[in-house]
Amino acid sequence: MKSDKPSSNVASGSEGEPQWGRVLLCGGTDWTRLGKKGGKKAEEDGSVSTRPDLVEPHILRSLSNIKAVSIHTSCAGCHCVVLDVDGAAWLFGRNDRASLGITDVAEVSENAPIQLTAQELGAPKTTTFVYAACGRNHTLLVGSEGQLWTAGANHMGQCGHAVCNEVTPFKLVNGPKHAGVKERVIKAAAGITFSIVLTESGKVFAFGSEEKGQLGNGKAGEHIVSAGKSAFDIEVEPAERFEVLVKGLEDRKIVQISCGQQHSVALDSEGCVYVWGYNGYCRLGLGNQQDVLIPKLVPQFAGPNELLMGAEIAAGPSNTVVIDKQRMYWMAGKWKNTGDGSDACSYLSSGLIIFVIGSSGQPYSSFRYLPDMMGCKITHAACGGVTHWALAPDDDDTVMTIAFGQGAANSELGYGPNEPKSSTKPIRHQLLIGIDVIQIAAGQNTTFFLAKPNAKLSDLPRHPVDVGSPDFCVVCDQDNGEDDPPLECDKARHLWAPWCIDPPLDAVPDGEWFCPECEEEPGAPIEVGGAKRPKGKRTKVKAADEEEPKAGQKRKASAKSKPAGKFFRSSGPTLSQHVLAASKRRK
Ligand SMILES: [Zn+2]
Ligand SMILES: [Zn+2]
Repeated sequence: MKSDKPSSNVASGSEGEPQWGRVLLCGGTDWTRLGKKGGKKAEEDGSVSTRPDLVEPHILRSLSNIKAVSIHTSCAGCHCVVLDVDGAAWLFGRNDRASLGITDVAEVSENAPIQLTAQELGAPKTTTFVYAACGRNHTLLVGSEGQLWTAGANHMGQCGHAVCNEVTPFKLVNGPKHAGVKERVIKAAAGITFSIVLTESGKVFAFGSEEKGQLGNGKAGEHIVSAGKSAFDIEVEPAERFEVLVKGLEDRKIVQISCGQQHSVALDSEGCVYVWGYNGYCRLGLGNQQDVLIPKLVPQFAGPNELLMGAEIAAGPSNTVVIDKQRMYWMAGKWKNTGDGSDACSYLSSGLIIFVIGSSGQPYSSFRYLPDMMGCKITHAACGGVTHWALAPDDDDTVMTIAFGQGAANSELGYGPNEPKSSTKPIRHQLLIGIDVIQIAAGQNTTFFLAKPNAKLSDLPRHPVDVGSPDFCVVCDQDNGEDDPPLECDKARHLWAPWCIDPPLDAVPDGEWFCPECEEEPGAPIEVGGAKRPKGKRTKVKAADEEEPKAGQKRKASAKSKPAGKFFRSSGPTLSQHVLAASKRRK
């Protein structure tokens, strides 16, 4: 459960096969409208939305039999990249500015993600995707031989290519280079209009907008063009390279990077934490609001006490999180906005800050721990648009998922149908108890979880809930009654009579079972609400049988049939009673 080595965005590998899990999600799925003004939901006009806000974590059916190793999204974006054990990428979500590498569509449904391999981008046979990053409207893919491909908005050069409106399809970046030698990229991160990449040698390169010092090259791009108008420099060099080496880190070996909307944070091999970029709301945790143009060491984590140095970092839109080596969670910047408290931090050009004492929602000007999480040994953190997530081992050796945040209007905290949508206090996520979450990717309005398969995970609802398949065996069309009920495929609700499965199953499988058709084509699209059936079977169906099965009619050979939406009840303690008791439970 708890690995010694902190994993930032990638589930760290155990022996042999990398650690993998299934993709869960909660929150908004109306990709094109999320976070946009006037983004009216379909339900409001009386129709049932096929792109609902998921109020609790769901298994994503389309990828339910994909072995995923990492999930990548952006606190400022509405698209997502899932990488699998074979090194393929699965992309879905908003496609503004061709951020998914394709043109002419506004979005790619999570029910039919695009599968992309490095070979399709011209890479050698052996190349796999090992990392990815999403900006607001651009995407970076990292190959196993250090390649970097990008697609999407590039008007600020954020894709690392010569400035143009959009890069599509994914295009190999010619770099980064240091002293004329090409460096191998191993990780990437992106803000709204800039990107940074980490190379094998521990160097950080940046490209895109330097409006607020995001590139860490000692410059902020703002300059006066004409009265009342300003423009921003775009870091583009005349040669064929567009990236810059982030300054001030040259003699450090950086091991982790993360980006907020307009700032970045990096962690070196010793545990020192560096921050740069936009510093509004004191998000860099340096005690002031001055933008930082060259990475600055955060004194709090600079030693000499090694336990108080950094082990993992995560940047949110207007905040930064550091987990120290004793596994304590520290946050700087603005992370809640009760009332108008967030405006209590007034802006003075001198860099001084005046806090209105007592107003809630005030930013943390330096890194502070959250008392509610004190007793938890945090192993992983993620920050979404308004959400904050952390993982910690629980007393019984399971994983505790901690979630909080304010203004989670799309249910991106996924607390459940009868629970509040937000919580300013870190609380244990009740619906994820017993779920072995290994990584969280928190988007602007949606949250993605990577979780190991187990019986508890199989009990989660599926998204989409309704895949409308008929209520009898997909092979022989037989409805064999209560005595010998068919097995239900965990991906697409295909029912299979036991005698139609080849080879026949001896017993009802424990946990996940995917039918032969779904096994054949993992990642195949899910047809929402349609009565699509796997190919190669008889299709003549009696009209009377075409109606939706009523709740409770659904059969499965095992006892774990779960009528959608009914599985979770809200018995038991309320959320507020679950305010992390961990600190009390542990001495
Ligand atoms: Zn059959
Ligand atoms: Zn199936």
